[in-house]
Amino acid sequence: MNRIDIIIGICSTVLLAGGIVHAEVPAKKQFGGQPLPAAMAPKVHGFYSKGCIAGAMAIPVDGPNWQAMRLSRNRRWGHPALIKIIEDLSYKAKKDGWNGIMVGDISQPRGGPMLTGHRSHQLGLDADLWFMPMPDQRLTYKEREDLSAVSVLKKDSVYVDDSRWTRAHTMLLYHAANYKAVERILVHPGVKKKLCDTVEGNRSWLNKIRPYWGHHYHFHLRIGCPDGSPGCQSQQGTGSGTGCDSSLDWWFDVAFKPPKKPKKIDTPKKEKPKKRRELVLSDLPKACTAVLKAPATDLETATLKIRETAFAAPEIKLPKVSAASIMLSKSIESAGSTLSGMEIPVPTPRPTR
Ligand SMILES: [Zn+2]
Repeated sequence: MNRIDIIIGICSTVLLAGGIVHAEVPAKKQFGGQPLPAAMAPKVHGFYSKGCIAGAMAIPVDGPNWQAMRLSRNRRWGHPALIKIIEDLSYKAKKDGWNGIMVGDISQPRGGPMLTGHRSHQLGLDADLWFMPMPDQRLTYKEREDLSAVSVLKKDSVYVDDSRWTRAHTMLLYHAANYKAVERILVHPGVKKKLCDTVEGNRSWLNKIRPYWGHHYHFHLRIGCPDGSPGCQSQQGTGSGTGCDSSLDWWFDVAFKPPKKPKKIDTPKKEKPKKRRELVLSDLPKACTAVLKAPATDLETATLKIRETAFAAPEIKLPKVSAASIMLSKSIESAGSTLSGMEIPVPTPRPTR
């Protein structure tokens, strides 16, 4: 019996005062323990916050115009359509002055819920890309763990710091939004405002730029359901218009205003927010069980082959990163990056902290 069978087969028996209950293993433990993707054709199953992916592809640790960060998390996996967009975007952005993309979390090798952080990113259709161009040098493995992104906001403010925001930032988002497959890009409302205030000419692409909590260290790029994945559940459309309207004002007029102090008297006791139940395998589409059980592709086969380019980087020297060493190293959460849980980007009440 291999390790995967054992993990899947486990239905841990827990003795409680009332007798014996069977506690299902959280799906995040099953998916979070997979070092490599399922050797199947690329196909996604389910929704962005409840699903998985077969036949995922890894973005190489280094490309001419990108560097993947936080390698120990082993989250540089996605649907080939997404990985190719990131690569392509890195070329377009470079032409417009962005020195290269720092690639944050995409998905786990078989997608699914994660041990830490995001609620979405389960289908290999979401990617976090830093609002910080990559440095000229190739970062070491350790630097990729430790380096923090820099916020594009003014300190203690919800507005963009003009000394940090450049035309290249705008063009990076412009190019990203122009892919047909890209359905939405989540940014901090301050970033959206900056674009609304400064973009001239064609503004239709602003429709895909959606304001959301966090997202001032990185933006979140999401593509729609790819061809050949009938089990992929689409999200709501973004409607029409640029979104530079009262829906954006709401963030500044309501969402970011300090909460009103409750009156001391007659205040009903605040109900404790219910803890969200952990997803288990049976919550996910049935196909995800097969994805979890399938044999693994090897890392070499499952890594995008970098295309030749006019923007080739200087010689790349990197420590060899094996899937085994990735699994042995601890997941390191960045102090700087925002990993707050997010789902469908519509204005929501201030999250409880
Ligand atoms: Zn994200």
